[in-house]
Amino acid sequence: ASVFAGIAQAPEDPILGVTVAFNKDPSPVKVNLGVGAYRTEEGKPLVLNVVRCAEQMLINDPSRYKEYLPITGLAEFNKLSAKLIFGADSPAIQENRVVTVQCLSGTGSLRVGGEFLAKHYHEHTIYIPTPTWGNHPKIFTLAGLTARTYRYYDPATRGLDFNGLVEDLSSAPLGSIVLLHACAHNPTGVDPTVDQWEKIRQLMRSKSLLPFFDSAYQGFASGSLDKDAQPVRMFVADGGELLMAQSYAKNMGLYGERVGALSIVCGSADVAVRVESQLKLVIRPMYSSPPLHGPSVVATILRDSEMFNEWTVELKAMADRIISMRQQLFDALKSRGGSVWLV
Ligand code: PMP
Repeated sequence: ASVFAGIAQAPEDPILGVTVAFNKDPSPVKVNLGVGAYRTEEGKPLVLNVVRCAEQMLINDPSRYKEYLPITGLAEFNKLSAKLIFGADSPAIQENRVVTVQCLSGTGSLRVGGEFLAKHYHEHTIYIPTPTWGNHPKIFTLAGLTARTYRYYDPATRGLDFNGLVEDLSSAPLGSIVLLHACAHNPTGVDPTVDQWEKIRQLMRSKSLLPFFDSAYQGFASGSLDKDAQPVRMFVADGGELLMAQSYAKNMGLYGERVGALSIVCGSADVAVRVESQLKLVIRPMYSSPPLHGPSVVATILRDSEMFNEWTVELKAMADRIISMRQQLFDALKSRGGSVWLV
């Protein structure tokens, strides 16, 4: 007998469940297109060479301890992460208007940001695109926000439903939060053009809609870290406020290390100080403080110009391979006749 005897069997997560089914399938020609994890030509996971080097350096450094990090994580990692997404010369950083806290990868950053907004922001509705990453509505709902949708993908053109997007954001209540995929929209791969981003920015600022960027793939869309960050930087350049969730899972291949950051760009330095104090109150009862290894690897790479350059080369190689694999899949499906429908 169990006190839990009445408990119902929960369904598998729709995305991670594909991996469960994949592992069970005895077929020798199976391919797992479920979870978004990079694979080599041999179908194997990849640890970047620059990551292996950084880990060696960390292991060989006798001055390193396993002490707790502060609630906000590794300070150097936070600074470098903000620079990576907002640009080294970002005025918002120079004016000390950016607060960054290390979080448990992209998911944890979204969750901490969501709970902060639920506690301290006047508007609790967050608009998410249709479709979007399946975890988005669950994360924000559990954080205490109300998730609503805006039109994003148009199946007829297999492109952006720009008019639908503009209509839906135009009719959102003043001050609503809007979740934006910074680049490489998941699951469609459809991103606005720079021109469309500029129109979205103007519309959002005119209605005081608060941008919450999700950057899970910086570098994967174009192969360039700076190019993929351009839409975000347009929003920072206008002096307005925003939230930013960053993940190193894909672009540094650190999936299981759970390394990411939440940044909040604030209107002034003194607001940023108070925002940080409140973020600590969100994090402390949730997991107390974040892990040490992942951000140490990232900081080792980002602070050293040679290692940083090596990273950009390895990142570009991953991005190029992804782009060429998609093209080959597209061509192969097309050559077998019928219309191609990639989801
Ligand atoms: N946002 C998007 C759009 C994603 O696709 C993912 C990963 N699939 C994440 C956030 C978060 O991933 P992680 O928590 O592993 O960084």
